[in-house]
Amino acid sequence: MAEMIRDVVMIGAGPSALTAAIYTTREDIDTVLYEKATIGGMAAITDQVDNYPGFPEGIEGMNLASQLEKQAERFGAHIEFGDASSIRSEGKYKIITIDGQDVKAKAVLIATGSDYKKLGVPGEKELYGRGVHYCATCDGAFYRDKTLAVVGGGNSAIQETIFLTRYATHIDLLVRSTVKASDVLQHELQKYVDSGQVTIHLNTTTDEIIVSDGRASGVKVTEG
Ligand SMILES: Cc1cc2nc3c(=O)[nH]c(=O)nc-3n(C[C@H](O)[C@H](O)[C@H](O)COP(=O)(O)OP(=O)(O)OC[C@H]3O[C@@H](n4cnc5c(N)ncnc54)[C@H](O)[C@@H]3O)c2cc1C
Repeated sequence: MAEMIRDVVMIGAGPSALTAAIYTTREDIDTVLYEKATIGGMAAITDQVDNYPGFPEGIEGMNLASQLEKQAERFGAHIEFGDASSIRSEGKYKIITIDGQDVKAKAVLIATGSDYKKLGVPGEKELYGRGVHYCATCDGAFYRDKTLAVVGGGNSAIQETIFLTRYATHIDLLVRSTVKASDVLQHELQKYVDSGQVTIHLNTTTDEIIVSDGRASGVKVTEG
């Protein structure tokens, strides 16, 4: 049997790869996407996307991801689950290793997005998934009626804090310097600060996540 050579292999199936796949497949370029986690990438785990053109009321991230997936598949994109671990050249081809199996392609598009930035403090690794989380929309519902701490002062931290107000009784927002999120988000956050549900701690460094009985019980910080 002749060896299969794909025109394009895309690594990742987030919005970037799905968009690129709409273009390649419309031009009849054979395209396969390999995704190691969630089709739709970060967009799929985002609560609400408000700034995507064409959706005047905003759209749920999962819904947007599913529409992008359908659109790419309509033109013939193949989307498969698999973790790409290496790429090497072999003559004019690229060999991509997906879950230990080699796939040959004329071209590769790497659209692996970005990963969550870790704090690198004691307690963080031990409590990952059991008190330390990086996605409020994924895990926030586990913390109904709890007091929470959110670390960060950029758009993601503020957006996640606002989302968590639907579950938490109180949230301490620990910001290393000053809040740098967009004005729109800061304005929205202010409502929860005014109501007392959120307290912002500026110039506050998170040093440790305290572990008791295998769970997070607090954070150690340095102020000023
Ligand atoms: C909380 C939050 C809220 C956001 N809100 C908005 C918003 O309102 N509006 C907006 O425009 N944007 C928003 N964004 C940003 C938006 O989600 C990203 O810009 C977008 O998802 C980037 O797309 P991407 O395809 O480049 O990367 P990603 O979405 O990160 O996708 C990359 C994909 O590659 C996969 N991958 C990585 N390595 C491998 C590998 N080795 N093998 C196989 N697959 C791999 C990953 O699993 C992932 O699915 C938000 C992001 C977050 C986190």
